[in-house]
Formats: sequence, C-alpha cells, structure tokens
Amino acid sequence: MELRKNYKFWFCTGSQELYGDECLKHVAEHSAIIVEKLNESGMLPFEVVLKPTLITNEVIRRTFHEANADESCAGVIVWCHTFSPAKSWILGLQEYRKPLLHLHTQFNEEIPYDTIDMDFMNENQSAHGDREWGHMVTRMGIERKVVVGHWMDKKVQEKIASWMRTAIGIMESSHIRVMRVADNMRNVAVTEGDKVEAQIKFGWEIDAYPVNEIAEAVAAVSEGDTNALVEEYYDKYEILLEGRDPQEFRRHVAVQAQIELGFERFLQEKNYHAIVTHFGDLGSLKQLPGLAIQRLMEKGYGFGAEGDWKVAAMVHLMKVMTAGMKNAKGTSMLEDYTYNLVPGKEGILQAHMLEVCPSISDGPISIKCQPLSMGDREDPARLVFTSKEGTGIATSLIDLGNRFRLLINTVDCKKVEKPMPKLPVATAFWTPQPDFATGCEAWILAGGAHHTAFTYDLTAEQMGDWAAAMGIEAVYIDKQTTIRDLKRDLLLGSVVYR
Ligand code: MN
Repeated sequence: MELRKNYKFWFCTGSQELYGDECLKHVAEHSAIIVEKLNESGMLPFEVVLKPTLITNEVIRRTFHEANADESCAGVIVWCHTFSPAKSWILGLQEYRKPLLHLHTQFNEEIPYDTIDMDFMNENQSAHGDREWGHMVTRMGIERKVVVGHWMDKKVQEKIASWMRTAIGIMESSHIRVMRVADNMRNVAVTEGDKVEAQIKFGWEIDAYPVNEIAEAVAAVSEGDTNALVEEYYDKYEILLEGRDPQEFRRHVAVQAQIELGFERFLQEKNYHAIVTHFGDLGSLKQLPGLAIQRLMEKGYGFGAEGDWKVAAMVHLMKVMTAGMKNAKGTSMLEDYTYNLVPGKEGILQAHMLEVCPSISDGPISIKCQPLSMGDREDPARLVFTSKEGTGIATSLIDLGNRFRLLINTVDCKKVEKPMPKLPVATAFWTPQPDFATGCEAWILAGGAHHTAFTYDLTAEQMGDWAAAMGIEAVYIDKQTTIRDLKRDLLLGSVVYR
C-alpha cells in the first residue's frame, strides 16, 4: 500500500552564540553534509530536511511550532553539535506534539589526535551538549527515541530508518477510521472495548453500519465488473475444484468478487481504512466475506473478525508503518487456532475461518470453495496458502476495563512438517519466544487475545515505542522473558498505568 501523505523529517541542530560566527558556520556546514549523506544513503524510507541551526528561544519555539503545523512533517530529529543551553528549549518542547528523535552523534568519527585543540573541542562537543539537552527532555517527561553513534554508521542509519516507521505509525494512528459492519460477536469478551477511550488514546474513529447498507453497495456492483474481477482471480490463483462443478464453483467465486468491489467502494466513499465483519450477522450477503476480505487486507485495509475493531485498526496501522517497504514479507490478522504439542516441535497453527492476508503467503495461492461449518450461508470462496518462515511479531491490544495494554510477542514462523490437504484455510505456524510453554504462559497471564495483528516487517521495539507514544503499557514476550520478570512487570504496570 501507499501512504496518503508524502512525509518528511526535519533535522534541527542545536548550538549557541558563545563560540562565534566561525563556529556557527561550521555547525551549519556539518549539518548540511549529514543531511545530504543521510538522504543519499538509501537507508532511510523518508527524506530528511535541514532546518536552520537552533540557537535562541524564539527560533526554537518557532521551529517546533512550524513542525506542528506542517502536515508533511512527521517528526523532528535533534542533535546538539555544540553546547546548547537547554532552558532555551523549554518553550519549544512544551508546544511540540510530534515524534522526536535525539540523534546523539558527532561530525567527526575519530579524535584528530595530531591537530586537536580547544577550538576543535568547543566546536565538537555533542558529548556534553547532548547530555544537557537530554536532561531537559527527561525532566519534562517527553517521550522520545535516542539513537547513538556516528551518522555514517549503517547501524545508526538503520535505527533512524526504524524510528521513522514508528513515527509514521504515531502520525497516522490519529486518523484511522474503522467501519464496523454489525456488532461484536455475542458473549465474546476479548474483542470488546471502550471505543471512546480508543479515540482519545489512539485517535481511532470506530463507527457501526447496518449490514444491509453495505450489502446494498455489493448488490449494486454490475455483472460486468464482477466478471472482470473473477477473470483476474482465475488468472492469478490456482483453482482447486475438489470435485465441485466448475460453473457452480465460479458462481461462488463471483459472489466474493462482487463483495470485494462493493465493500471497497463503500469504504472509499465513506473514507474508512479498516473493516470488521461478523459471521453471525450477514444480512442479505450470500456468503461470509472471505476471499474478498483477504484481497482488501492485501490492499492495505485493516480487518478484524467477529467485530474485533481493535485488531482491524492494528492491522491497518501496521500496514501503514510498513508501507513502501522493500522486500516486505507481510502483515495480517491471525488467530491462535490449534497446537502441536510434540516435544521439540511445539507451535501454534495460525488461521481463521477464512480471512488471512495473502501478503504473508509463501508459494502458490489457491481458491477453494468449502462449507463454513458455522452460520447459514453459501459455501464461501477463500484463498488458501501457507506462510513464510522467519521472525515476526504477534500483537494484541486489550482493554483491561480502565486502560489499554499492548502485548508484543516475538515469534518464530516455521513450516509445518507435512501438508494439510483437508484444511481449507490459509495458515501460518509459529513458536512463540522464548519457548512455547513460557510464551503461552506469559501471553495468558498478560491477558492476550486469540486474535492478533501479525507482521514479519516490524520489530517489538517499534511497536513498544508506538505504545509509549500513545501513553499505554507495552508488555514484551521475547527471548528475555521469564515468568517471574513478567509478573513483576505486570505488577509495576498496574501501578503506573491506571
Ligand atoms: Mn475469530
């Protein structure tokens, strides 16, 4: 998917007048070189824009004010080349409302042993200038990222790039709009939540529509448009008839094509970025949206099943954060379905009734048409595939009644040992870190859901930083997790976040 805005990041260098014009000239030159080289590196997903050196209260305040107002500015990167007395920054920092990165770097990589004198030392003193600045940001309690190292170091550039995607998540979260088609599944607890609080915390607008309103949009899609999309499906995917009549199969597939077009038009017309459905409330729709939802997810729409609007928003958020990423491996809603408990081969088979995003697929994608075994509709057509190997993160945003918590579990995705020819749904298979038993125990103790927003393309650190920016608790389950530490973290969280 593509972002709706062409975001940029501002590069602001802190200094002061104490060291004279010659020094300030060098500061500006060095900053210009750093910005130029960062942009040339090819490592950063977004452009960095150089701003004039920040010296006085007035300039600092005005610059942060302008950053707030500029819709294309997704964040500010600050570095203090020389000492920059931090009281000068208070007004600006008080007003600033966007993501902040403190790049703790230095223009020269090595101490110039043969030539170094006090002029050089005064000009290149981020080692203490940045400490002065960091102190103020900490004292003011402002959330920010600190990246340390030489600006040409690939690892440093990777960290800046990673933070930029977090920053996009923070910026874009504030206007995610989720369309609820019908209500949450009756009696289910974990898919529920406080929608007003979600808007206050994350900026999400979550609106319900009667299912037949969107079903009318589906019915309005012409036969010609529907058939053209069916042709596209038949070109792109393998058709697994499994003994069904080819004409009857095609008619079932056409129902999903019509749903895809109708849903997408309805979402576009009303400007929504994510959608939830509920298999128990389908109105006049002939099939549970399966293939249709899978394709919409691949286009970047968030999705949550059984009315799970939190997962729908999270899936879209993670697709936004990974937009335009080279070699992205995919992002999807998934559900913990069934276990393999054989010692040494433990893992969780991930799937859903139908709705798994093909962006995570590995190898061929097929269309199958099978009974749903739930509800009272036609056998829905769906895309079936297995998923990629590699590390990913499974996230679960839960509502604890008085606050939200984000669980982030790093998981190792694997191939299942054997094909599963009778399973008519797309799957993934993973072992949660640090190991199956500890990972599952930690997930259940922390109250994690059975639905997750999963991606191969973001890190636990990125999602944890996003949660921090939203002012909610993040609980990590990864290689460092022990149950004793996790329980202490949950206890601390219950005191801090209430
Ligand atoms: Mn489900």
